[in-house]
Amino acid sequence: MSVDKVQVGNVEIISVVDTPFQLLWQIFSPSVEYAEIEKYKDLYPESYGDDAMLTHAGTYVLRSEGKTILCDTGLGPGPTAMLGGVVGKLLDNLAAAGVPADSVDIVTHTHLHVDHVGWNVNADGQPNFANARYLAPQEDWDLFGSNLPANPHMSQVIPLKDLGRLDIYSGEHAVTSELTLIPSPGHTPGHHSLMVSSSGERAILMGDMAHHPSQVEEIEWCTAFDLDHPTVIENRRKLFDQAEAEGLISAFCHFPQPFGKLVRLDGKRVFQGL
Ligand SMILES: [Zn+2]
Repeated sequence: MSVDKVQVGNVEIISVVDTPFQLLWQIFSPSVEYAEIEKYKDLYPESYGDDAMLTHAGTYVLRSEGKTILCDTGLGPGPTAMLGGVVGKLLDNLAAAGVPADSVDIVTHTHLHVDHVGWNVNADGQPNFANARYLAPQEDWDLFGSNLPANPHMSQVIPLKDLGRLDIYSGEHAVTSELTLIPSPGHTPGHHSLMVSSSGERAILMGDMAHHPSQVEEIEWCTAFDLDHPTVIENRRKLFDQAEAEGLISAFCHFPQPFGKLVRLDGKRVFQGL
C-alpha cells in the first residue's frame, strides 16, 4: 500500500484521486513499440493493463501557512466518453480525506488540460470551491482560452475569469512563501511544477512532466498530448536530474504511487514509490 500523505517541513501534502482510467498504449506513446514499453512491466506492474496503461486523474492538497491549496481538479463528474465513460468523484474523495470543497482557499493548475480542470465549476458555471481563488498559467490561457469550440474543457475555466475569480500567472509564481510554481513547459506551453520548500525539506509536484514511470528514464518518449517534444524533453532532463540529485519527494498526476523518489537502479533512473 503506497503512502497517500507526506509531510515536507511544515507543509502537509495529501494525494486525492478523482478517478482511475485507462489509456491505450498507442495514445500514451504513438512512436514507441509496445515491446519497448513492456520492458518496464516488472518494475511498474501497477501501470500495465491488458492492452492499455492503467492510470488515474490525480490531484494534490497542500496545507501551507494556514491555507489549503488544491493543485489540479481532475477529469470532472463525467461520464467522460473518450475514456470509456468514467465518472469522477473528486469532491466526495476530498471530503473523505478531510478537505471539504468550501475549505479550499486556492485552486492552482499545473496546466489547463481536460483532466486537470474538471471540477473547477458546477453545471451552472459557479465555482465548486466556493471560497477559493483560482490560478491559471498565462501561456495555456492564451492557447486554449480563446477558442472554446476547439477546447470545450475550457468551460471549466472561462466562467472563473468572467466571475473575477481567476488570477492568471506567468513565470515563477509564489503561492505561499513555501510553495512556488516554476515553469516547466513542453507538455503545454504554460505547464508549471510546484516546488515545496519548508524547514530545509523539499518536494516537487511535476504534474504531467511524465505520464508513466518508465519516462523518468525514457525521457524522449512523448505522449500524444505533449505539444512541444524538444522542450518537454529538455525540461524532463533538467527537473528529473535535479529531483534525483537532491533526493526530492516527487509526485506526478498519473503515476500509480502518488509519491516517490527518482533513484538509480542498475544504472537506470527509476521512480521508487514511497
Ligand atoms: Zn494529465
